[in-house]
Amino acid sequence: MYLPIVAYGDPILRKQAQPITADYPDLKQLIDDMFETMYTADGVGLAAPQIDRSIQLVVIGFRPYDEKTDSYGEEEERHVLINPEIIEEGNEKDYFNEGCLSLPDIHEDVLRPTSIVLRWLDENFVEHQERIDGMFARVAQHEIDHLNGKVFTDRLSSLRKTMIKRKLNDVAAGKVHPKYRLKRQIKK
Ligand code: ZN
Repeated sequence: MYLPIVAYGDPILRKQAQPITADYPDLKQLIDDMFETMYTADGVGLAAPQIDRSIQLVVIGFRPYDEKTDSYGEEEERHVLINPEIIEEGNEKDYFNEGCLSLPDIHEDVLRPTSIVLRWLDENFVEHQERIDGMFARVAQHEIDHLNGKVFTDRLSSLRKTMIKRKLNDVAAGKVHPKYRLKRQIKK
């Protein structure tokens, strides 16, 4: 089932999300719904606060880019992150053009570490701890920001923040209408 996405300006996107346990009600269905929502909206990651649940749950799905062949793989890489924690940030940082389903029509280059050591639980509550890089590391950091009440534009320079302020205000005012449904538009 498609879940409407919370837009920038909603206070839930500023809250610290709570960890969950394996007995969280209807978790499997919720994960399925989050994947469906993410694919419907053409996203590569979705954090639970974006669908109005302040819990530490993230879904990620993308086709990995292969530098050797300069193409995207057929096989999709999928991850479910429960209660994720960044243990260590690599020294190397890089810019990457990010967008966010809660901030439609805004795309900005964001500086982040290219690799991190991540600890998380998967959908079966099996614990993982790995050094990750590439697209997985990029999307994971963006989504973990959501669990900590942050959005990617918080990480921009004050000049860039000033330049996109009006766009952000438009999103918060419900004036932006992406192809997918935002929660704000349904309420009205
Ligand atoms: Zn986002």
